[in-house]
Amino acid sequence: MPRQQVLVFRELPPDQLARLQAVHEVTVANPRIEAQRDAFFAALQRAQGLIGSSYPIDAEVLARAPALRVVSSISVGIDNYDLPALRARGVMLCHTPGVLTETTADTLFALVMATSRRLVELANHVREGRWQRNIDERLFGWDVHGKTLGIVGFGRIGQALARRAALGFGMPVLFHNRSAVDVPAELPALAAHARQLPLHDVLAQSDIVALTVPLTDETRGLMDAARFAVMKPGAIFVNGSRGGVVDEAALLQALDGGHLRAAGLDVFATEPLPLDSPLRTHPKVTPLPHIGSATHETRQAMAELATSNLLQALAGERPRATVG
Ligand code: NAP
Repeated sequence: MPRQQVLVFRELPPDQLARLQAVHEVTVANPRIEAQRDAFFAALQRAQGLIGSSYPIDAEVLARAPALRVVSSISVGIDNYDLPALRARGVMLCHTPGVLTETTADTLFALVMATSRRLVELANHVREGRWQRNIDERLFGWDVHGKTLGIVGFGRIGQALARRAALGFGMPVLFHNRSAVDVPAELPALAAHARQLPLHDVLAQSDIVALTVPLTDETRGLMDAARFAVMKPGAIFVNGSRGGVVDEAALLQALDGGHLRAAGLDVFATEPLPLDSPLRTHPKVTPLPHIGSATHETRQAMAELATSNLLQALAGERPRATVG
């Protein structure tokens, strides 16, 4: 097989980079780093394969990539890719479903715990030398076990989160999903604890609501002022999908107006979160820097799968995980 041109647009672990270099000509250039942007666009001119994440591959980028045949995303989310433009050009898109499911569900449950029990706020209480006597009810938290968890988007990550909540913490689970989910068939142990309902009912009946939907034209701005208003007074909101699914101004209003107790956010409309965003320092918000899948093991597994996808596609074989 002739060596082809591969452009790596976000850092890959050395062992995965070596797999690519063994069979192809590889350029590494991250367009998010200004000093590497020219090198990225120069390599894009001849690239047959792209691998990376967190950078929009839209019609404009594709127009500068005349030789491109495959894009391998090191992510499960595909909202950075212009699917119609890729389809129109016949460029294959691969991604990394499954290998990050459990880790991302761990992160979301950590946000459920952190917001309910005020873990970050109370750790800071100790760090800042304010633990002079036992805390009183002003700093007490909220039980997690037994609370009703609402999950919006009941796919791989939503279901993994439901298992943690229902089987580990005795939480009834209500969920909303676009298509019907046969819980007994997919998750027999959960069948007695999880119920599919319309979105309105999930929001209205849950103590804690977690988002695990993809960002699409249908879900953009899904959580707006009206939907936050439907949530129970004193409820907690957790976002582990994408920032664009939430109207951040409406979320701030729901927090400031006292309607919501707290929010745990792993994702934001603009990332990294701008320094002047009120969400960064809001006392009711636990903000994380998009770390859903950010463990050594899972990022390695994602890089391995994305590299295999790219190598298979360039070899004319069917990759393990293609989109649509
Ligand atoms: P998945 O298995 O495809 O699950 C997504 C679920 O959302 C599916 O069950 C889908 O239902 C449902 N859905 C899609 N559009 C919907 C709508 N308009 N209304 C209601 N439900 C809808 O994907 P996944 O692996 O669980 O990942 C989900 C998302 O999590 C990713 O797309 C990504 O944005 C995000 N994510 C974030 C992190 C992080 O670091 N925070 C890490 C990984 C993933 P259907 O079956 O009907 O399509």
